[in-house]
Amino acid sequence: MNRLFQFLKPLRLPIATVLTLVAIRVLSDLYLPTLTADIVNNGIVLGNTHHIIQVGIRMLTIAALGGAASIAASYQSARVAAAFARVLREKVFSRVESFSLPEFDKFGTPSLINRTTNDVTQLQMVLLFGLRLIVTAPLMSIGGIFMAFSLDPTLSLIFIAILPFLIIIITFIARRGIPLFRRVQKRLDSLNLVLREGLTGIRVVRAFNRDTYEGERFQKANLNYTTTAIQVQRTMAIMRPVMMLLMNFTTIGIIWFGGLRIDSGFMQLGDLMAFIQYGMHIMFSLAMLSMMFVQIPRATASAHRVVEVLDTVPGIRDAGVVTPIENVKGYLEFTDVTFSYPGAERPALSNISFQATPGQVTAIIGGTGSGKSTLSSLILRLYDVDRGSIHIDGIDIRKLALEDLRRKIGFVPQKAVLFTGSIEDNILFGNDGATTGDVIRAAKVAQAANFIEKMPAGYASLITQEGRNISGGQKQRLAIARALARKPRIYILDEFFSALDFRTGAQLRTALKKETGNSTVIIIAQRVSTIMDADQIIVLEEGKIAGLGTHKELLATCRIYREIASSQLTEEEIA
Ligand code: ADP
Ligand code: MG
Repeated sequence: MNRLFQFLKPLRLPIATVLTLVAIRVLSDLYLPTLTADIVNNGIVLGNTHHIIQVGIRMLTIAALGGAASIAASYQSARVAAAFARVLREKVFSRVESFSLPEFDKFGTPSLINRTTNDVTQLQMVLLFGLRLIVTAPLMSIGGIFMAFSLDPTLSLIFIAILPFLIIIITFIARRGIPLFRRVQKRLDSLNLVLREGLTGIRVVRAFNRDTYEGERFQKANLNYTTTAIQVQRTMAIMRPVMMLLMNFTTIGIIWFGGLRIDSGFMQLGDLMAFIQYGMHIMFSLAMLSMMFVQIPRATASAHRVVEVLDTVPGIRDAGVVTPIENVKGYLEFTDVTFSYPGAERPALSNISFQATPGQVTAIIGGTGSGKSTLSSLILRLYDVDRGSIHIDGIDIRKLALEDLRRKIGFVPQKAVLFTGSIEDNILFGNDGATTGDVIRAAKVAQAANFIEKMPAGYASLITQEGRNISGGQKQRLAIARALARKPRIYILDEFFSALDFRTGAQLRTALKKETGNSTVIIIAQRVSTIMDADQIIVLEEGKIAGLGTHKELLATCRIYREIASSQLTEEEIA
């Protein structure tokens, strides 16, 4: 919680304004009943019209002042709360952006989205109410009780009588509310998870006729959420009528006992009316306070979730002292690298050692799940190795600044991801300093220029959400253009030939060879034909190196490579 207060500091001034405005309003509310007593006792009861008009004008003025302050306070507090939420969202978002993949794995995307939106909104709401309440509740109840006491101490005992009831109600609500609100937030996370999976995977869901299954899954999560939400609302629904009941009983008590006291001449009629008003004010502010008790557990649950994100330090970050590198050559070396995903039973990679030199093509081949993509994530430091080390130009990559490291690498992920925006934007994503000439060149080498030029707006054509309006192969080619625009020293191409037809693949390989020149190239593939002519081929099997050498050498020495090759190629092709 304290963590969050620091974001309020820059908003000190507007907050002070709100508090002052609220105080003005409360003071006017506290003052008005004394005028009521005056106008009744000395004006109406005595039939003094002049006094009625005089006091009446004063009452109107003060009421107008209080009203104006109240409106201004609402306006200001809404602005403050919105500004706070904006800053908080920004902080959460930039923290999430700094996360490395293990943190994403830990929270899960739906939960991160909820924490950035829904949870922040909860905090915004509580701030909005809280700002008004923090002044109103104590000032109004203490001031009210003080004023009531000065009017009639005996009658004021009524307020002490209702106190235990109030405490009981508030404890009950807090006890029930806090765990329930936590649960609501959790259920909302799982609802979003199901929704997201169902929506992003809609094609698969349709293709496998799993609509009903998905529907049921959603129904279940939805029902879970609804049930908990209803439980919460039920608890909260009791609150308002019970408070109203208590308030009305208090009023009845005041009138009853006040009437008796007027009868016996201890009290004047106007004082009784003022007393009723104070009673209302006190009860109202206490009711507001108890509403706050409803909001606080909910906000606490949200605050925890937000702070959890803010307090998570990315496991993969720059070392205290980073080794600067200029003019990277791209010499890459794995030394006895072992890596397991968090919580996995066995390592995804074990004892991997190899070197990849500039100007050479290093191919990695192996079945699905053999650890090829994992290996490429380690070079980018999306995950850190458990044992062993990875060096670039002789420097351990953990000693490099992440930005320096990644800037030197042109990565084409297995699943091409594009962003909403124009084609040019997407290519510039690799290097926003690139010129239009660079963009076109990158597109040409990537064999993407042809289809881009055929599109109605050429390079300005828009890619819709996640690149749905272009084919898988076109996406792949834009992804490689993006990597090329970077002019990196190390290329990592993860199975990107798989989405290309044979002819385009061959053309791309020839063009790439010229372009990549003396860079280090790592090509991940499943098909032997795409990597046969690589300078060295690493055969991965269940996370271990099963063979390392050229196509010819591996055919002679590596049983697994021979099996892969003979299952894909004819006898002549192998030779
Ligand atoms: P390949 O690219 O060769 O098909 P991967 O490197 O993607 O294989 O996966 C290697 C192994 O690591 C697989 O057993 C896979 O289930 C596991 N794996 C991949 N990504 C993750 C992840 N984010 N969390 C846990 N396990 C993973
Ligand atoms: Mg893979």
